[in-house]
Formats: sequence, structure tokens, C-alpha cells
Amino acid sequence: MDFTISDQMQATLTLIDEFMHNEVFPFEADFFHHSFKDLLPELQKKRARVKQMGLWGPNYPAELGGMGLGLLEHGLISESLGRSPLGHYIFGTQAPDAGNIEILHMFGTPEQKEQYLKPLVNGDIRSCFAMTEVNTAGSNPLLMEGTAVKEGHDYILNGHKWYTTGADGASFAIAMMVTNPDAHPSLRCSMIIVPCDNPGFNLAGNISIMGEKGSDYNSHGEVLFQSCRVPQSNLLGKEGHGFRLAQERLGPGRIHHCMRWLGICQRSLDLMCERANQRVIELDGTTLAGKEIVQHWVAESAAEIEAARLMTLSAAWSIDNLGMRKSRDKVAMIKFVVANTMQRVIDRALQVHGGLGMSDDTILAYFYRHERAARIYDGADEVHKASLGKHVLRSAKKVARQSV
Ligand SMILES: Cc1cc2nc3c(=O)[nH]c(=O)nc-3n(C[C@H](O)[C@H](O)[C@H](O)COP(=O)(O)OP(=O)(O)OC[C@H]3O[C@@H](n4cnc5c(N)ncnc54)[C@H](O)[C@@H]3O)c2cc1C
Repeated sequence: MDFTISDQMQATLTLIDEFMHNEVFPFEADFFHHSFKDLLPELQKKRARVKQMGLWGPNYPAELGGMGLGLLEHGLISESLGRSPLGHYIFGTQAPDAGNIEILHMFGTPEQKEQYLKPLVNGDIRSCFAMTEVNTAGSNPLLMEGTAVKEGHDYILNGHKWYTTGADGASFAIAMMVTNPDAHPSLRCSMIIVPCDNPGFNLAGNISIMGEKGSDYNSHGEVLFQSCRVPQSNLLGKEGHGFRLAQERLGPGRIHHCMRWLGICQRSLDLMCERANQRVIELDGTTLAGKEIVQHWVAESAAEIEAARLMTLSAAWSIDNLGMRKSRDKVAMIKFVVANTMQRVIDRALQVHGGLGMSDDTILAYFYRHERAARIYDGADEVHKASLGKHVLRSAKKVARQSV
């Protein structure tokens, strides 16, 4: 396994680092005091600068207008961008568009690519991904109830989805619906493209999450598909292959998430150290950094971040070099390890900041509110642990049998 960074890659990382410090971190104050929607014109200008610098869409293939980097290299960039909630958006690599782009690139028809993929990669439009339902457990998508029924040349979609990230302001959704109710449970669902201005696509509103409804990209919508008619040509891939397509976006998507979370960890640790070094806590001038418990928090955080980073890079290397099938255990491991590392590091950093940590004068409270969800979306901790545990136990049984 080789994590060596080329000189060219190091130069790119330095450039991105400078951009984050000079253009993105200072802009966060505006982000706290305005809605995302209001910031769009300024965000567009920043996106234009990123494009001029040749840094747009690090993970997208060069033929689509991206930088064409492998998973390992994109992972490193993703960590750098993840230090701010605005980083991925400004560089055009935000979820769920990144995953939708991968699916469209791999499975889209030439017409779908022309109409949806091109403007999406270019950042002219946004998309969303509507799978989770209000009334069925998202942890087991085999229970899904939303339907797409054929009528003439069309599908008629009906379903009640929520947590459709970025539905507000999106141009189209990729909806996961039951198309083949009588098939094997893993072959019942399909992905279908639905333009959001379709009269049967109704955004009931943005869900209030930890006191915030958000807007535009920075929101999670509740969506009603009500007799929503789309042509059958909007099917993505083969009918009944929805879960197979979802598997394709799983590996790269997981690396993007985990490296973004590591960026959040690193920024929180940096802030923790800065505050601990400055904050005088005794009459003799001792700072928080002089307290053993704070030293332990800093040490534990640094070590946990390093371990989580190496695990994630190892999973990225494995997908790049051995393929997704052979990397499944690693991909499941990083999900819960990195999400929990992040939660601990943010919590320690917030504690060191005291009252300041609870205020919106630093980014920590934002991270604390928004990143708790990391242990739930993209598969809850318990689901990943159960599937990894079963797989490790099965492998152990095989080894035991072979050695008898
Ligand atoms: C911020 C955020 C963004 C999201 N974005 C999207 C999006 O863009 N598109 C989309 O379709 N969905 C999205 N989701 C939805 C997300 O994928 C689901 O919330 C997730 O799959 C869990 O489903 P659920 O909420 O129905 O919880 P449930 O399935 O009801 O599970 C509840 C809890 O039960 C426990 N649990 C579940 N299964 C097991 C098990 N086998 N063993 C033990 N315990 C278990 C877990 O602790 C879990 O948290 C998002 C969610 C959040 C919070």
C-alpha cells in the first residue's frame, strides 16, 4: 500500500489550502448570518474562481470537465475541503450531486447525459436523491413502499419521501421506487429521473433539523410524489436494478464522506489547540494547555484522527487497486469509526471553548448540530457493525473449516 503524494498533488493541495484559508473560512461569518439562498451569487463567484484555477470537480473524469483524480487523491482534497461546510460546494463536489454524477456517467443514456449530466457537472444545476421514506425504515430499503407503475410510455410515481437533501432548488431528483413488486426483494426497485418542476413532484417543505430549516442546497426536504408522470426513458440503468446502481455509488461516496469528516476533525483539533494555548485559566498565567486533561484530549484526538485517516486512505487505495468487492469490509469499517471519531473530537473541542463553543462565533456549534447525523445517514452505525460482524464471523468459520 502506497500513500506517497506526488509533487504535483502536493502543489494542488497547497493551492487548495490557501484558497480555503483566504476565500472560504472568512466567508463562514456570512454563512451564519444569511440563508444559503442569499449567498448563492457570492458562492457562484467563488466557484468561477475555482474553475479558473483548474480545481473544479476533483473527482470527476477529465472528459466531463473534472480533474480526473483517483479516489486516494480525491480523498486528500476532500479532507482539505471538508474543513468548512462550504468547501465541497464551492469546488463542485458536494453530495448528493457527486453520487448522482457517478450514476449518470456510468448508467445514463446519451440523452440523459446531455440533458442532466452535462449541466450538473458544470454546476449550472443541482440534483437530489429521494430514497428514504417517512413511513418505512430507511435502514432496510427492502421495505420501501413508493411505487412507479407503467402506464403507456410513462411511469406514474407515488410515494412519500423525506430527508431528500437539497431538494429545495434542485432541478431534478433521482427517485428510488418499487417498479417490480413481485420480483426478488433485491430486484424490486429502480432509479428514475424526475424533473423537480413536474406537477406531481411536490416539495412539502424543508425539515426543521436541530432548530434549522435551512434553504437551497443546505436543506433536507420532505417530498410527495403524487401521480407524478415521467416518460419510461427516464429510467436509469435496467428496471429492478436500483439497489445495484446504489452499490456502485457506495464506495466512492463513503470515501468522500469520511475524508470530509476528517477535515472537520482536523479543523476542530486546530481550534481546540489554538484556544487551549490562548485561554488563561489561573492567576499565574497558566493556560488551558497547561492542564493535563486538555493535553489528554488533544493527544487522544490527534491519535484517533491519524488512525481514522489511515483507515480511510487504506480503503480508498483498496477500491482503486483491488475493486469494490474486495474492499467491502474496509468500506463498512470506516463509516462508523470515522463518524464516531468526529463526534468525539468536535465534543472535546467544544468543551475546551466553554461558552464560546456553544455560540456561533466559531464553527464548532455548527459542526456539533449538523454532523451528529453522520452516524445515521449512509447507513446507521448499527447496520454497518452488524453486516461487518457477520462477514468477519463467516470468514472465521471458513478459516476454521480449512484448518481442520
Ligand atoms: C442529514 C441527513 C441527510 C440525509 N440525506 C438523505 C438523502 O439525500 N436521500 C435519502 O434518500 N435519504 C437521506 N437521509 C436518510 C438516511 O439515509 C436515513 O435516515 C437512514 O437510512 C436511516 O433510516 P431511518 O431514518 O428511517 O431510521 P430507521 O431505519 O428507522 O432506524 C432507526 C435507528 O434504528 C437503529 N437500527 C436500524 N437498523 C438496525 C439494525 N439492523 N440493528 C440494530 N439497530 C438498527 C439505528 O440506530 C437507526 O438509527 C438523510 C438523513 C439525514 C439525517
